[in-house]
Amino acid sequence: MGQCGAPQSGPQISGPSRNPPPAANDVRAPRPRASRPAPDVDIPSYHGIHVAPLQPEHVRIAWRHPTRRSDRARVREHTCDCKATVYELCHSGGLLYIRRTVRHAEGYVVRETERLITVRMEDLWRRLILGQAR
Ligand SMILES: [Zn+2]
Repeated sequence: MGQCGAPQSGPQISGPSRNPPPAANDVRAPRPRASRPAPDVDIPSYHGIHVAPLQPEHVRIAWRHPTRRSDRARVREHTCDCKATVYELCHSGGLLYIRRTVRHAEGYVVRETERLITVRMEDLWRRLILGQAR
């Protein structure tokens, strides 16, 4: 007779329960580090202060032969070394002065300003940098 009684063994695929893939020991991938963008400002250049071009109207600085070379002066600021002429703002004995070193093929020529109290010499230094004094 109807042998077609297909065994209604439904689709119960109860095979070996599928194991979830081994948890790989939960090795945590290194957290992607928020790659910090390179600092886009202030890429430190090796150049220092560059003196501005001399203005048509400017103060003429009285450059003198250095007198007290034995002074222990501290250089507070200086202009860039890439120029033949380097200016240094020096501090010594409570006073400031500017030292100018001009490099020739033959050697250095050093001149200094008079020594002034801080505020006055800082003003002159700023003028020098701005090209308003030379
Ligand atoms: Zn420079």
